Parts: sequence; C-alpha cells; structure tokens
Amino acid sequence: MMSGFSRSRAAGLLAGAALLTTAACGSGAAETPASGSAQTSASGAKPEVVAAFYPLQWVTEQVGGSDVQLTTLTAPGVEPHDLELGVKQVSDIQNAALTVYIKGVQPAVDDAVAADKSFDAATAVTTLPAGEHAEEEGHAEEEHGHEEVGYDPHIWLDPSRLATVATKLGERLAAADAAHAQAYKDRAAQTAATLGTLDQEFTKGLSTCMAKTLVTAHEAFGYLADRYKLKQVGITLDPETEPSPARLSEVAKVAKAEGVTTIFTEALVSPKVAEVLASQVGAKTAVLDPLESKPSGDYLSAMRDNLKTLQTALGCTA
Ligand SMILES: [Zn+2]
Repeated sequence: MMSGFSRSRAAGLLAGAALLTTAACGSGAAETPASGSAQTSASGAKPEVVAAFYPLQWVTEQVGGSDVQLTTLTAPGVEPHDLELGVKQVSDIQNAALTVYIKGVQPAVDDAVAADKSFDAATAVTTLPAGEHAEEEGHAEEEHGHEEVGYDPHIWLDPSRLATVATKLGERLAAADAAHAQAYKDRAAQTAATLGTLDQEFTKGLSTCMAKTLVTAHEAFGYLADRYKLKQVGITLDPETEPSPARLSEVAKVAKAEGVTTIFTEALVSPKVAEVLASQVGAKTAVLDPLESKPSGDYLSAMRDNLKTLQTALGCTA
C-alpha cells in the first residue's frame, strides 16, 4: 500500500512543521493580520508555507527555495479533488505565513484558508470557463467544485500561466518575508524563465500535427489545449464519476468524425471508460498526466513526457 506509507510520511512532516510554527509564532491563529505579516524574519525562523497539491508544491519549492519551510496538504498518490483536511492540517493552514492553493480544486482547502494569508494562484492568470458539459452533468460539482467557481481550475497544465503564477508567488513571498525578498524574486524569475523554455518546446512540438483533437477521460487539459491551439473533448469533468451512456456516445461521435487515434487516460483513475470508448472508435489509449499528484520525476519531466505522448498521438512532425 504505497499511499498508506505516503500518508504516514506526510503526517510526520506535518507534525514537525507544526512544532516549528509553534516555536516561531506562538498562537498563530489568534494573531491580527498586521502583526502576522512581518514577524517571521525577526525571530530567524523560516516562514511556514503550505502548498495545497503537487504543481503548487513544485512551484513553491522553486520560488521559496531553502528560505521557507514547506509542507504539502495532498500526499503523493492521492487524488487532490476529494482531499479532506485533518485537524492538524487545518491548524497548519492557520499557522502558515502563506497557503498556496487554487480555489475550486479542493473545497476543504477553500474553506480553511484566510484571505490575508493565502495565495489563490487562479487570481494570477486569465482563467477559462469550466468545461462546456459541466451543466449537463449535475453531479459533477459534488466532489470537483468546478461549477462553484465558474472557471476551469487546471491552470498549471499551461506552462506560460504557471510562469505567471511563479512571478506573483515571488512577490507574495517577498512581502511575507522581507529579509529574503530579493532571493524570492530572483528564484521566481529563474522559474518563470524555465517555464518559458518549456512553453516554447510545446509551441514548437505541437505546431505541425495531423490531428488537433484531444479526447481525455478527465477534462483537465483545457489550458494546455487553449495555449497550443488544440481542442479538448473531455469524457467527464470528475475523474471518479462514470459518464452517462449519452455522453459516451456523443464523445464517440466526435472522436470518429475528427479521426481521433488515441483516447487519453491517467494514472490515478481507472482506464476502463477510456478503454471502452477506444474500442468503440478503433483507437488506442495513452496516459497523459494531469499532474494533480506527484509524478515519478518532477513537473518539468512529466510535462516533457506529456509532450512526447501528444506528439505521437496527434501525429506531429516537429
Ligand atoms: Zn482535475
């Protein structure tokens, strides 16, 4: 049971982090915003920063470097959308100098954060509307929360948007920990440049392709499609909900009409639905990682794997 191991390891990290916070700030939850923002560097302790799930963890590691004490709420191998928070995680959020999250991914986190000590990465970028069939599937909002916010929250799958998030995060960390402001801004600039390079690789790699339509099991790739001029047709918005037969036959029709050769599935979700659809339309399946959980490498290597998978599936020649 890999996830059991990961959970207990994460719990240990969280426990250690809570001790540090207690030593550094006393009763953090009761502080006023005015005293809470500037006191971190005076004591010499690193500011506590909480990341909600993997892509935000990655970007916070890059920008925060060794100047922050980082914890992540979602353990590796766990689907972040249905995360429930324990008492300790709620208190970690309350004690943190900053919680980095995306409103609309995890309702429990949305409820736990305080406006003055959190950074909603979705506010840093131009968002896209939630999936076009969100209204047809009335059950989708129960676990996924997309309809509540009205936009598609999967912004990290566009490297250019994630670069903007890195820059804004650098500004937020600089404000929270003035003693290291320049270091945060420097690392943010480096991270944005790295993501800019990745963005160029995608632009070039997906510029000359036979097909432009992505059929995905989990409708998570809207920003990637938007950025690189592809069209996403998602089977379901919520990775854990079975699509209706009507939705399946609708997607099958589109897939046939557009000559789709590959139906994309993902590691944390059963491939059954994608396999059924693939056999109906005579296509293969391939894994495209929505990066909602930690990959075996990191954000950059997993995105480069995604690019290769897309190039093969779409018949790209660049
Ligand atoms: Zn998702």
